[in-house]
Amino acid sequence: MRAQPNGSHFVNGAYLDDPAGEVIEVLYPATGEVIARLHAATPAVLDAAIASAEAAQRLWAAETPAARGRVLRRAAEIMRVRNRDLSVLETLDTGKPLQETLVADAASGADCLEYFGGIIAGDTGDFIPLGENFVYTRREPLGICAGIGAWNYPIQIASWKSAPALACGNAMVFKPSETTPLSALKLAEIYIEAGAPPGLFNVVQGMGAVGAALATDPRIAKVSLTGSVPTGRKVYAAAAAGMKHVTMELGGKSPLIVFDDADLENAVSAAINGNFYSSGQVCSNGTRVFVQEAIHDVFLARLGERLSGVVVGDPLDESVNYGPQVSARQCEIVMGYIKAAVAEGARLVAGGTRIDRAGYWIAPTVFADVTDAMTIAREEIFGPVMSVLRFAQEDEIVARANATEFGLSAGVFTRDLARAHRVVARLQAGTCWINTYNLTPVEAPFGGVKASGLGRENSRHALDHYSQIKSVYVATGDVVAPY
Ligand code: NDP
Repeated sequence: MRAQPNGSHFVNGAYLDDPAGEVIEVLYPATGEVIARLHAATPAVLDAAIASAEAAQRLWAAETPAARGRVLRRAAEIMRVRNRDLSVLETLDTGKPLQETLVADAASGADCLEYFGGIIAGDTGDFIPLGENFVYTRREPLGICAGIGAWNYPIQIASWKSAPALACGNAMVFKPSETTPLSALKLAEIYIEAGAPPGLFNVVQGMGAVGAALATDPRIAKVSLTGSVPTGRKVYAAAAAGMKHVTMELGGKSPLIVFDDADLENAVSAAINGNFYSSGQVCSNGTRVFVQEAIHDVFLARLGERLSGVVVGDPLDESVNYGPQVSARQCEIVMGYIKAAVAEGARLVAGGTRIDRAGYWIAPTVFADVTDAMTIAREEIFGPVMSVLRFAQEDEIVARANATEFGLSAGVFTRDLARAHRVVARLQAGTCWINTYNLTPVEAPFGGVKASGLGRENSRHALDHYSQIKSVYVATGDVVAPY
């Protein structure tokens, strides 16, 4: 099984390599097999990427928004036509089932390119009349933006960052996670085919050091990171030194609150999707499932029954609905949390073990009798580990849901819609769902509060994070001066 690209990096419209860079081995997480070997970017590669982005950005910013939008929409079409190939590549790189990648990865990326390609020409600025004088505003690009991605949704993250950035007239240098470096290269190819100037979207590979080099380079105007809170703190601090703009899409430990009048079947479905989709490797997952006392036991029983529907196998087989963890390291981290949960007294009701196959597999795991103080209820695990906690009252659950440094997302299940809106209004989370979970359409803003991040991706609000507003005062009369 091979997925070797024609070069490690994509710079100035073409593949580029520098064998002096540290070797990155790309593995198929379902088997551990090496599928590609790349090199981390050397300073020479980074320099070439940033220099070509500078040149491309000047040309690109001079285009009309309509012309820029056309390129993005063409790229979206190409992504859709290639969806299957891109999905297979994403499955090889991440181990996520093809059943998922066919609908959630490149498809979401294409939606995003199409959306920003569609709205940018209509973003016409303000005209502010001031008697005989007036002010108008211009939305101007920031310059070169750095995108730094996590490994769970590689092409989606590259698309969610590049589409609004490019729509606003910026260039982007994107560093994928070293664990999943392949699909961003395909996106770079697609932008070129769609008519973007060479250098507008460059991909450089590497570990944290390459991301850090981008975050500190004076030629970079903005850093958009998707990653963990500890990495976010480092990147934010590095960006602050250069007074750079930032978007931080970071981790979470989100509450999914199930009141006793909820539709039980839907709530169980949401708990499954919000904990085990992508084998639990989703930032917004509702990993603290709070269930009101009256339905707690029946909820757990039904959840147990539904878990018998898990189909494990080669993720390339479309009937498989559950994949491995992305890496051996991630597997160890998750197993460490499972052991800690048992040691701290949580009751294991499903999974809790590795699945006996080559690769990095952990069974979907459910703990009951979890308390707020336990490690698994406080820390982001980023694996298939659901904590089920009991609650009694509305005020109590709002306080407990908010008692975390994170604030990425939250879900509420109830048939009482007045209560649903009341509770959601009090939850400290950037993205909330009522009677569903983890849906992130491009039309809706997505992002976190508190330690989960800054800024918003998707929706027209993302434009504000990839541009700056220039205000132009125009006088039509004489200038009055005191002397
Ligand atoms: P990491 O924080 O480990 O890494 C994220 C990216 O930052 C990687 O490309 C990494 O490179 C890079 N990086 C690491 N150190 C630095 C540094 N000092 N300066 C600049 N860049 C650096 O996250 P993971 O890849 O492990 O992804 C999982 C995390 O991402 C989870 O916390 C998850 O919640 C979060 N996430 C958030 C989302 C959101 O939208 N809010 C969506 C998806 C995931 P490398 O990997 O090569 O070391």
